[in-house]
Amino acid sequence: MATVTLDNLRKEFDSGQIVAVDDVSLTVEDGEFVTVVGPSGCGKSTTLRMIAGLEQPTSGSIRIDGEDVTDVHARHRDVAMVFQNYALYPHKTVRQNMAFGLRMSTDMDEDERHEKVDETATMMGIDDLLDDKPSELSGGQKQRVALGRAIVREPDVFLFDEPLSNLDAKLRTSMRTEIQRLQEELGITSIYVTHDQEEAMTMGDRLAIMNDGVLQQTGRPSDVYANPRSEFVGGFVGSPSMNNVDVTVEDAGDGVTLRNGDRFAYSLTGERADRVADAGVQRARLGIRPENVAVVDDRDGIGTTVEVVEPVGSDNYLHLDLGEEFIARVASGIEPEPGEVIYVTFDESDVHLFDSESGESLLFDGERERTAATV
Ligand code: ATP
Repeated sequence: MATVTLDNLRKEFDSGQIVAVDDVSLTVEDGEFVTVVGPSGCGKSTTLRMIAGLEQPTSGSIRIDGEDVTDVHARHRDVAMVFQNYALYPHKTVRQNMAFGLRMSTDMDEDERHEKVDETATMMGIDDLLDDKPSELSGGQKQRVALGRAIVREPDVFLFDEPLSNLDAKLRTSMRTEIQRLQEELGITSIYVTHDQEEAMTMGDRLAIMNDGVLQQTGRPSDVYANPRSEFVGGFVGSPSMNNVDVTVEDAGDGVTLRNGDRFAYSLTGERADRVADAGVQRARLGIRPENVAVVDDRDGIGTTVEVVEPVGSDNYLHLDLGEEFIARVASGIEPEPGEVIYVTFDESDVHLFDSESGESLLFDGERERTAATV
């Protein structure tokens, strides 16, 4: 088991024309499960590959269990990586695939290797596949073997690069639970890369969100969700995405008024309003999550026209005419007709507000983040 520490990690390609990873610093604690998430091309795979030793950083350092491994060859790092495309040897049986890593990385004799493979295969429920070749296996079975091959080595660190992307939705959900269970049971420090925010939200102890090579925010999923540092982070976690609309910020004496043209004026009061007033901005982006929008009877709410009603089973997504794409996620019993005018509202405590220029949150709670980090 080990701590993984990245210090100011940077990776350039094409003589510096592409900066894939830009000054990333992150500590993954011993036994912790961190998911690195972000849109395609944000640098998450490159970060993982540098930890594995498959890419050499342009600058910065990587320590595993305190030892600087920046210049250590991949083979001599005690990490095991699981890839999206399984990367199994096609001509070897499952047993040989699983034993191969052991042969390379330990001095176990053949009997010991056999025993270890049998033990792991039983734990993974793949003991009846040991004599099969990869071509005889389903996608789910291949991924299970790839996982087994990583686990059998008992590495210090597991690295997962989108391991479930090639599986169908149902299998993906069950493999998620399985990976979490195994990780918890084995207590091995794990870094899991995915572009799927739902996977990241449900799997990790902690999220690390990247964009354009830069680490945007780290924290427990529930904290990042409730307390995003920026409009990008707020929009990236949660589904459907957070609604964002342009507002002007007006001093209202005992608070501020957030006004979206003629569409609505929303009063923010108390300590949060003071913080917005102190920021001294005239324009901002108001963010509100679809599940925090409530349909109300009274005309004190914000009046808006329903454009589309999208049923998703347990809920309905109401697409509303509030300027940009704006969705209210409501119970399936609430079914207005397209074209109907309804009234919606939201709690002040659910309101997010972002600087129009920088995208930084004006209501970010640094104290909450510090407290969460020390729990
Ligand atoms: P994806 O989910 O699509 O794999 P990612 O977040 O993992 O995306 P990376 O694969 O790390 O992103 O790529 C980050 C950036 O670096 C991208 O712009 C990519 O095109 C570029 N890049 C990655 N590898 C190389 C390479 N070997 N040569 C040149 N550019 C590269």
